[in-house]
Amino acid sequence: MKLYSTNNKDLRVSFQEAVFNSMPLDKGLYMPLNIPQLEKEFLDHIEKYSLPEIAYQIASTLLKDEIPTADLKALVEDAVNFDAPLVKLDEDTFVLELFHGPSLAFKDFGARFMSRVMAYFLKDGELLLDVLVATSGDTGGAVALGFLGVPNTRVTILFPKGKVSEVQRLQLTTNGKNVRAIAIDGTFDDCQALVKQAFADEELKAKFRLTSANSINIARLIPQTFYYFNAYAQLKRKGFKEVVFSVPSGNFGNIGAGLLAYKMGLPVHQFIAATNANDTVPRFLESGIYETKPSVQTYANAMDVGAPSNWVRIMDLFNTDRKVIQELVKAYRFTDEETLAGIKEIFDKFNYIACPHTAIAYLATKAYAEKNPTDKGVKVFLSTAHACKFPEVFSAEMQSKIELPAQVETLKNKVELYSELGKDFEGFKEYLLMGDQ
Ligand SMILES: *Cc1c(COP(=O)(O)O)cnc(C)c1O
Repeated sequence: MKLYSTNNKDLRVSFQEAVFNSMPLDKGLYMPLNIPQLEKEFLDHIEKYSLPEIAYQIASTLLKDEIPTADLKALVEDAVNFDAPLVKLDEDTFVLELFHGPSLAFKDFGARFMSRVMAYFLKDGELLLDVLVATSGDTGGAVALGFLGVPNTRVTILFPKGKVSEVQRLQLTTNGKNVRAIAIDGTFDDCQALVKQAFADEELKAKFRLTSANSINIARLIPQTFYYFNAYAQLKRKGFKEVVFSVPSGNFGNIGAGLLAYKMGLPVHQFIAATNANDTVPRFLESGIYETKPSVQTYANAMDVGAPSNWVRIMDLFNTDRKVIQELVKAYRFTDEETLAGIKEIFDKFNYIACPHTAIAYLATKAYAEKNPTDKGVKVFLSTAHACKFPEVFSAEMQSKIELPAQVETLKNKVELYSELGKDFEGFKEYLLMGDQ
């Protein structure tokens, strides 16, 4: 697999380079030069395969020249060691639960795969790989747990003090080993700015092998295609053929992977991009004008993104043809009020507790169905996180009914360990230079 930059189609890098660089120097995004098709024979019988088998088939179609078969198989099986079940709500509505991994969010797929790919490419005796991550909540937990115990790597996570939920904080601060957490007295943007400054600092760059783990890394995108194929396999077993996927979207990495899966041959009838008030993409699909805005805070805070970083990739996949994208991807936006009403409706109608991001994807399936009453496609909305990560939005009755997964019970008995720093770069730099503490 060779990759180019969306800003320079003549650039060629290997998969390994793309993984460690994350982003080309020209600030474009890496894209595969050729998007291979899955074998027809495989797709025709996909219902016979398990999630790890499907994941391996996709990974090997893309990466067989990069990682030898046996190694790739072991890597995929280690990364995808949890399920992504499809839960039926009514005759033609299903929720695809992507939160059964260690951090209880879909980002586990990307983070676990990427960490193992990086570890695979690291050679013995090389300088420790230092992963710096800023998180508003979910990314940090997935990356921390993805890299936890992975040899020759160290993770430093910056989170805004007091601005992540309890479960999210525990996932960041109770790891020990090769994972360090820092509570920054500031906002997520302050955390992000510190990480960016570190990457630009000559002294730090000379001393450490710094890498980011953000959602634009191609090794995070690829494994997110796995669950789309697996959902299709589950639906095929139930006799469905036409699928409508509704995806709660922030940086558009999740739906970007769905569209990559489509390009690889996955039959999808319709994609729906569901956003909160941060509606840069819905506005673009309506008006043709792509105008980013500063993000606004919502209950679905993992989607509070005003400038979705993966959108360029989606444009690139479809040769920047807005008409084609408009046909394949319908977009809907919802306010906080509508989100709360959506959570309540899902609970009242289906006795199901959905996190705010998931509720937005549900609302989008309804909006789509209202506009397209003759569409017979089965509606599948993606659930990107477990409800227990966002307790503040639920009524007391719902809160009492949220079943805490085993992962959370264990967390509550662990010791929290983290440093506290201000938002000035000097303090953060000193922390990094001082080494283990
Ligand atoms: C990250 C995240 C999203 C948004 O996914 P993108 O790939 O950035 O569009 C949605 N929901 C949850 C719970 C998340 O953690």
